[in-house]
Amino acid sequence: MHYLITGGAGFIGSHLADRLIAEGHRVTALDNLSTGKHDNIKHLEGNPNFELVVGTILDEYLVDKVAERCDAIFHLAAAVGVELIVNHPLESLTTNIKGSEIILEMAYRYHKKVLITSTSEIYGKNTQGPLKEDQDRILGSPLKSRWSYSTAKAVDEMLAYVYWKEKNVPTVIVRLFNTVGPRQSSAYGMVLPRFVKQALENKDLTIYGSGKQSRCFLHVKDVVGALTRIVDNSAACGQVFNIGSQEEITIEGLARRVIEITGSRSKVVYIPYNEAYEEGFEDMERRVPDISKINELIGFSPTVDLDGIIKDVVAYTRDKGAA
Ligand code: UDP
Repeated sequence: MHYLITGGAGFIGSHLADRLIAEGHRVTALDNLSTGKHDNIKHLEGNPNFELVVGTILDEYLVDKVAERCDAIFHLAAAVGVELIVNHPLESLTTNIKGSEIILEMAYRYHKKVLITSTSEIYGKNTQGPLKEDQDRILGSPLKSRWSYSTAKAVDEMLAYVYWKEKNVPTVIVRLFNTVGPRQSSAYGMVLPRFVKQALENKDLTIYGSGKQSRCFLHVKDVVGALTRIVDNSAACGQVFNIGSQEEITIEGLARRVIEITGSRSKVVYIPYNEAYEEGFEDMERRVPDISKINELIGFSPTVDLDGIIKDVVAYTRDKGAA
């Protein structure tokens, strides 16, 4: 198969490219290298099954050309990272809504299967857990930029669903919960690469808010394994699936684990949300997925536990000399 990966030089996209190529497929990665990095895919250069096209998903002419040539599309390109979204809300909205619309329109034009990556932000402040795919969304004011990401991704999901329903485009939606692993940048606010970098530099680990908020972290290699199997499964079309881990930890607890595993001399420091992000910032207190639906479809369950994940990120960060 020949796959198009939008955002193919990004953190998840580059791991997906590695996986597909290892399975014997061809990959075209479309990436504007804004948050994606050349470094993430440089080991694939020269591989006859890999091609990098530098450009934006907002360029209809370019997307038309690359979509026509492929067999199926993984749409991962998006403005991600809470800090990036809070700092550049307009750009995030445009990329995430208009970009997805263009991808879906091309998938329709050339009748290609498309997997749309959505997010656990969809559930907003719903702290019930584990969250099932049909659970309610609870969001704050649309004027708080944090919620623009959740809203844009909800529009993407609606578009994907109606392209399937009304135009028979084979679309699948996945909601990724916190995904971590090697190549994730610390630059856009993601907590694990940031804590690991701080710990290795013996600097204070910056806990935002009380640190009692909790998350579940899944290794990127488990995520891409699930993506390749879902896209292969015709029963997945027109449906949405959570992908995540259920090993829940508070952010304070995560900071402690990172300090222990690295043997760092770092301490922790608590920073109020309004200093870390913006005035009136609202966080999710808890976020745990129900993963029974994807488990039933493809037998998915995580293979790397949190300590394994932290060790992997530490090894990568040490190797790179920086995050
Ligand atoms: N966080 C933190 N310190 C940091 C970066 C993030 O305490 O340096 C917190 C953040 O406020 C959130 C959690 O860690 O409660 C996870 O943040 P991340 O941006 O990784 O993912 P999110 O779950 O918010 O999408």
